[in-house]
Amino acid sequence: MSKSQAEMHGLGTHQAENVGNTYIVPRKSFVIRHLQTMKSLVVSLHDVSPLTQTSCEEILMQLRQLGIDQTSLLVIPNHHRQAPVRENSSFQNWLVRKVEAGHEPVLHGYFHQRDKRNSESFWARLTTEIYTAGEGEFFDLLTEEACMRVERGLEDLAFLRRKIVGFIAPAWLLGANAEIAIRKLGFSYTTRLRTVRIFARGADFRSQSLVWSTRAPWRAMISLAWNRSLAAGLSGAPLVRIGIHPPDLQHPATWQQVRRLAAETRRCRECVSYEKFVEHLSLPQG
Ligand SMILES: [Zn+2]
Repeated sequence: MSKSQAEMHGLGTHQAENVGNTYIVPRKSFVIRHLQTMKSLVVSLHDVSPLTQTSCEEILMQLRQLGIDQTSLLVIPNHHRQAPVRENSSFQNWLVRKVEAGHEPVLHGYFHQRDKRNSESFWARLTTEIYTAGEGEFFDLLTEEACMRVERGLEDLAFLRRKIVGFIAPAWLLGANAEIAIRKLGFSYTTRLRTVRIFARGADFRSQSLVWSTRAPWRAMISLAWNRSLAAGLSGAPLVRIGIHPPDLQHPATWQQVRRLAAETRRCRECVSYEKFVEHLSLPQG
């Protein structure tokens, strides 16, 4: 990583000794103050890469028609080792245009896929194979390896003028060692399925993301019922998160629900990227 990139990403500004601190989360006051100021919707588009560019373009176009013109784009620098962004100028140009139009670039792993291990625990296998079909790249990386992949990812995306402040692990599986790397490299936030972790505040903002599975018909059916009830439960929440994956577009019932819930939610909420949401909450409250 070049010196300017290192400075841009605050390398060395987050000391490792801060990492082990317990999160003291003043959740109650945090949420109440937030409620007084804004009700937000964050739409994130996962797995943005040359392999998914066509679907991503279609999804963003349809979202724009629903009034959603700002999303967080979770970009994979080399999707499954088959699509290196650094060698693809047409994808780069497309992404530059999206970022200029107001979308936020977020680093989403490096390869996305987790390296196969010779031996691993039942729990690791259950989490990474059954839950995510082997996509949890940052689930159990050592800090040093995570640092290397993230630095490489930032270098590959250095054609974007905009600083990347968010790291979201593939399948939201960010292990403790890898999280140390993310904080050391100066990112402002990460998200998991149920939280947005804001490093500057040392706080987790609780909010479960809507997200669909289309890997098998039974998963898709459960997913529709689950998201319907989750969305109803979130109607009064300060933040609604909608996580979209490119295959959602190919599954008619899923895509219809994504569109309907996104449109309904957008009508009564401000649509922001994660970066803006986190910026807002990082300001002194009072
Ligand atoms: Zn992903």
